[in-house]
Amino acid sequence: MDKAQDGHPEGYRVLTHDDIPAYIAGVPAIVAQLGGGPADWTVRDVADGNLNAVYLVDGPAGGVCVKQALPYVRVHHDWPLAVERALFEHAYMVRLDPFVGRGAPQLYHFDPTLFTIVMEKLEPHIILRKGLIEGRHLPKAAPDTATFIANATFNTSDLAAPFERKFEDIAHFARNQALLRITMDLVLTDPYREVWRNRYVRPHMEGWAASFRSDIELKTAVARHRIGFLTNTQALIHGDLHSGSVMVTEDDTRVIDGEFASYGPIGLDTGAFIANLIMSWYAHGAYDRPEADRRAYRDWILEQIAIFWATFRDRFLTLWENATEAGDAYPADYFTDTAGKARLATIRRDYLDGIFADTVAFAALKMNRRIIGYAQIADYLVIEDLERRARAQAPALALARALLTRPERFADIAAILDAIPRFERAGLDPDAARHL
Ligand code: ADP
Ligand code: MG
Repeated sequence: MDKAQDGHPEGYRVLTHDDIPAYIAGVPAIVAQLGGGPADWTVRDVADGNLNAVYLVDGPAGGVCVKQALPYVRVHHDWPLAVERALFEHAYMVRLDPFVGRGAPQLYHFDPTLFTIVMEKLEPHIILRKGLIEGRHLPKAAPDTATFIANATFNTSDLAAPFERKFEDIAHFARNQALLRITMDLVLTDPYREVWRNRYVRPHMEGWAASFRSDIELKTAVARHRIGFLTNTQALIHGDLHSGSVMVTEDDTRVIDGEFASYGPIGLDTGAFIANLIMSWYAHGAYDRPEADRRAYRDWILEQIAIFWATFRDRFLTLWENATEAGDAYPADYFTDTAGKARLATIRRDYLDGIFADTVAFAALKMNRRIIGYAQIADYLVIEDLERRARAQAPALALARALLTRPERFADIAAILDAIPRFERAGLDPDAARHL
């Protein structure tokens, strides 16, 4: 990519709120969609993520969402970040469009000069994380997200895609290195070492952070999953599928923000989603709510974790059983007789068990990074009393440590659901939580 003197790609500039109408006026298809002209449009800045600018534009006939990749981290301007990440968010949307239907916002326009994506405006959707914090019952969020992940990953895996297609994609998404570096460093490395970016609650979580740095068993497991992330190009994954990447109403669910997309282990996506439900469960313990409401909502969260995994598994298996075009992993004519069919059923169960094992591990890694690392989550930040916040975080770390170092204890989703309340007894002393 050509770079202008300021180090940004040729022609790139940051659009401000006031630039948006004139910018949109240059895209005829979007003008038609909004109706009227620039003077009739209203623009709202809705950026609340860490990285990008996002505006909602409304006209007399309709609205759109405009997302621009900024040349730095939005919440940390001294931290440069390649705007090319928008190429991969766009490519992710395009690649998955045939498979996910209305599971993602519709793509309207991509601008490879300003690194801007114009897409369907999701309204009255809210970010799932916000709904969880407010204690809202959103019955479609977990099953729809599970369906999205199954559709996206099955169809881009070796179970469905010929290797030539898959290798082309792997080569393309392997260029998403600026964001993969963030996953490598902030998610998979920082929580187990001392680095300026770590932002755990001080002083209360210092004991946990120090114990992670000195825990050889834990770091051995973490390193194993780092290798999994680097070498297992199982399917096209979202790469950042937490509860802030899902927008919901009571009857509609959309997965947004695929800028971390790459080929990787499917369990990274399923694990990210489950991790955020687990942390929500623990955070609710420190919210000021009537006890009966709290208990009911926590039960609902556990139920959503169960529904999420069951839906993902069923959907993935159904896609596999009904696939008409096979990928290169399991040639259809290998398993046609009775014995073959029985074996294929076993192969499928084993494959899903493998995804489950990765799900458990990556869920743990995602919890650790949200509590020790740089990008803290609102579920915990809304707990103003720092000791209270820390006491709601410690159980997630204790559970995560067990998930990573004792995976044999967590062979199915029931074992996880059982462990979540049990680990709530973990406190600020990491050693005292070892028996849980
Ligand atoms: P970031 O990469 O900075 O995290 P996101 O894609 O998560 O950006 O978007 C940031 C915020 O913008 C979201 O939390 C949501 O509130 C809003 N947003 C993003 N996409 C849409 C959309 N298609 N419709 C409505 N709001 C959106
Ligand atoms: Mg993002």
